[in-house]
Amino acid sequence: MRHFDGYRVRMAVPRLSIVIPMYNEEAVLPLLVSRLRPVLDGLGQAYEVVAVDDGSRDATAAIVTLLRAKWPELRLVRLRRNGGHQAALTAGLHRSRGDYVVTIDADLQDPPETITEMLHLAQTQELDIVYGVRGDRASDTLFKRGTANLYYRLMRHIVGNRMPLGAGDFRLLSRAMVDALRELPEQAPVYRLLVPWLGFPSGQVLYTREKRAAGTSKYPLGKMINLTVDSIISFTAAPLRLGIWLGAFGALACVVAAAKVLVAYFQGTVVPGWTSLSLVVLFLGACQLICLGLLGEYVGRIYRGVQARPAYYVGEDSLAGADSGAGHT
Ligand code: UDP
Ligand code: MG
Repeated sequence: MRHFDGYRVRMAVPRLSIVIPMYNEEAVLPLLVSRLRPVLDGLGQAYEVVAVDDGSRDATAAIVTLLRAKWPELRLVRLRRNGGHQAALTAGLHRSRGDYVVTIDADLQDPPETITEMLHLAQTQELDIVYGVRGDRASDTLFKRGTANLYYRLMRHIVGNRMPLGAGDFRLLSRAMVDALRELPEQAPVYRLLVPWLGFPSGQVLYTREKRAAGTSKYPLGKMINLTVDSIISFTAAPLRLGIWLGAFGALACVVAAAKVLVAYFQGTVVPGWTSLSLVVLFLGACQLICLGLLGEYVGRIYRGVQARPAYYVGEDSLAGADSGAGHT
């Protein structure tokens, strides 16, 4: 159905958007389409598939363009440069139009059949988030499972227990949730942390993580480390606070060392000039550490200001006419 909307004629707004970040995924695309399309056609609801080409250097974009000829619901959003998985997700979420949005990897590690279950759960229980939780990761290497386990435990420590263990970027979000995420001007959004952090009603669907259907992993160790650093830095100023603790311990150590230097001076066991020199070095060292710590505290607050995350999200207000929404302090 087409309708006139202001100056623009648009296609009917789809009920469901599927966002798929793709980086050099030419090998897997035909397989992906052959598994995804029957699932989506079987839903009986209007949908769109937003393929986000994250600056691929292979034929990914060309193949998607070819596939579009036979699959009108397929859209191509082509990014000019490779910005990474989370950036590609951001582009896809921002451009999606559905009432519900499912983000899924291109490599068929997340089974498309699970989407039906996710949508059903969200619609029947009025949920804003349905996490795809990996029940079984036997297909991943021991190293991948080990590092992933470490990552999830660390992150749960930072964002709290709302983050389900083993929930990656295969999930369903409601339009309200996508809009809330859009309001966050994060420089490096890490969705697997931001989504649970917002606190919207959520459910889970268990699935078995399959092997990559074709091609190789686009997440080498370097990118995994980057994601971990982004995750920590975007959620806690604890590393900055380290400065002030170091400063305090440093100052204490300086006092003890200064006392020892003075004792040695009065015992007359030192070369002339050593005492004053030591005291100056110790005193300046302590001052510097404390100042660095203080600076860290200010930088931390500026950083939080720049992140501009709302202080709260109202789910409901029993006052008639009061709307739900976000608020800043
Ligand atoms: N991806 C992306 N940009 C990147 C790296 C990865 O869009 O810079 C996509 C990739 O095409 C896939 C998803 O992110 O759809 C997950 O990547 P991958 O399957 O390689 O990661 P792994 O499963 O090995 O952790
Ligand atoms: Mg994968």
